[in-house]
Amino acid sequence: MTIQERDKNVVWHPFTQLKTAPLPIAIVKGEGAYFYDDKGKRYIDGIASWWVNVHGHAHPYLAKKVSEQLSKLEHAIFSGFTHEPAVELAERLLKRLPKNQSKIFYSDNGSTAVEVALKMAFQYWSNQGISKTKIIAFENAYHGDTFGGMSVGARNAFNLPFSKLLFDVIHIPVPVKGKEQETLFALKSALKQNDIAAFIFEPLIQGAGGMVMYAPEILSQLIECCRTKNVITIADEVMTGFGRTGKFFANDYLNHHSDIVCLSKGLTGGVMPLGVTSCAQFIYDAFLSDDKMKTFFHGHSYTANPTACSAALASMDLFDKPEAFENIKRIEAQHHMFLQKIKSHKALIEVRQLGTIIAFEIKTTDQTHYLNALAERITEFFIERGIILRPLGNIVYILPPYCISNEDLNYIYDSVGEFLDKQ
Ligand SMILES: *Cc1c(COP(=O)(O)O)cnc(C)c1O
Repeated sequence: MTIQERDKNVVWHPFTQLKTAPLPIAIVKGEGAYFYDDKGKRYIDGIASWWVNVHGHAHPYLAKKVSEQLSKLEHAIFSGFTHEPAVELAERLLKRLPKNQSKIFYSDNGSTAVEVALKMAFQYWSNQGISKTKIIAFENAYHGDTFGGMSVGARNAFNLPFSKLLFDVIHIPVPVKGKEQETLFALKSALKQNDIAAFIFEPLIQGAGGMVMYAPEILSQLIECCRTKNVITIADEVMTGFGRTGKFFANDYLNHHSDIVCLSKGLTGGVMPLGVTSCAQFIYDAFLSDDKMKTFFHGHSYTANPTACSAALASMDLFDKPEAFENIKRIEAQHHMFLQKIKSHKALIEVRQLGTIIAFEIKTTDQTHYLNALAERITEFFIERGIILRPLGNIVYILPPYCISNEDLNYIYDSVGEFLDKQ
């Protein structure tokens, strides 16, 4: 039996209608920006394996550091115990994070990083005997697939079966170009309620919502509004962290920084699952008490897993080398040149770019967005050409590992152009 046939017998895949989906491609090897399947075919990983990979696949330095950690201390309970990888990673992350961040809480993926942030915000208020239980979030947002994450995310086809079970959230419009005042007005009117615990957002770019972009100036303004009303701000940087937007964190574009930051995806270079929720000192302080009931009762078996922390530390080493941001700036420049070239293509509604992310919104008559039939055609077209691009409905985007060559980028651009010409 092939790997695919064995898979079909026993495995349930995420985000996949298994009745109609084609058999999955069996990946046997990764190297830099490439994957190889079981038949030896090579693919360019144009989406960094669901946005996690930053330095390339099977990176020798990351492999070496992780394997050294594995033979020293693979895992340890993190309540009542600690270890150097977690401490050093917290120190190094805090050096990179905005200055107002002062403590690191570990979990193991992006959704849990968000859950932790929401629970921190709710309990921050309840520890002070203040009843604030409402969250403000953007329409069209994505914050993960756990119940808290789904609650603050957009209400759409993906979470429809659970809609009655999600907690109440005030959704305000995304401040895309031309809509800034509308958002500001919606935020200000929501902030008139005195039960708002926090405002959560994907800074500058909504990923799963279709790579929807908005400006740092308006986000800074929204954060400032929340601050004057004593509302906690949470930046979900699960996708935007680690150079994706052209700066280390999207927060680095802002004049006012969020009180809480959620990290995952690129955190370990895409090698191991790990989540981080960082917070400002005033939030941490609200949990210090002689009353044990004010403790933050949250944790996961694999909290601060040392092996995952060692991958993150090794990834930070690579970010400390000039090549990392040279590559990021190179991709940014390449994307920008292609954007100029393609932007008036008749098959496009819009092309947009932020840092290493470029997104093409293709004209379609099918309005169902995510479950769009176009998406399957797009995936197939690129797979045939040895390129992995996984569109969000009619939105095709390139979000590559930073080690991708200009040659491979150009090959992807040419293929995108070819696809658009056929529309
Ligand atoms: C991917 C993502 C998440 C969820 O992270 P998982 O590790 O998939 O649980 C949350 N927020 C944002 C902005 C994301 O892009």
